[in-house]
Amino acid sequence: MDEDLQPSHVDRLAIAKQRMIRYDLQGRDIRDPMVLKAMARVPRELFVPAEYYACAYDDRPLPIGLDQTISQPYIVALMTQVLQVDSNCTVLEIGTGSGYQTAILACLAQEVFTIERLEALAKRARSSLGQLDLDNIRLIVADGSLGWPGPIQFDRIMVTAGVQQIPGPLLEQLRTDGLLVAPVGTSSLQTLTLVRKRPYGITSQAICPVRFVKLIGRHGFQD
Ligand code: SAH
Repeated sequence: MDEDLQPSHVDRLAIAKQRMIRYDLQGRDIRDPMVLKAMARVPRELFVPAEYYACAYDDRPLPIGLDQTISQPYIVALMTQVLQVDSNCTVLEIGTGSGYQTAILACLAQEVFTIERLEALAKRARSSLGQLDLDNIRLIVADGSLGWPGPIQFDRIMVTAGVQQIPGPLLEQLRTDGLLVAPVGTSSLQTLTLVRKRPYGITSQAICPVRFVKLIGRHGFQD
């Protein structure tokens, strides 16, 4: 093919992103138009290390350094869809990692509060998020198993690291009738679990098996 007719990097990524949306998301069970719109809007290539740029839209987790990963796009979309986030929601995310899931949530929510344990990842996530036109994100470095510092309640909480049980402080910071999604299980295999807080207690629903890195902290796994 003539050099000039070869698709450019930008075109190739745009094609890969369309493929991801059509086959990996719509082709499975991602139906919420707002979630699909957010997945179409956020450039995942901004959140992966340079050496993975070309596979930014592969439907798999990718390493982001320090033994952590950016989650698989389908799982990002699924967790967002089950959480039913709308523009009235204040959302807490535990485990910022690359910041990709944070950006997706910020497209949908009124405000996103996100906590990352590792300073180096938080710094990179801040810089990636800074390149997008989003001004409703607050990111701090802390142990997210303790919840957001101070008296605040959230409509939605998303935990993007594996836990043996839902940390108590997170359930306390969830508003009544609020939803929380988390991978609950062992350090190597979890069940994506959707929790609803009711006035009389919590109800939970198993979604699917997943494999996340561990939540390390006071109410998580030990380091
Ligand atoms: N949503 C992220 C997933 C990152 S992996 C993405 O798509 O990029 C999980 C992240 O949780 C890691 O960055 C890890 O450092 C972080 N983490 C683990 N324990 C934590 C804790 N107690 N508080 C906050 N973040 C934590």
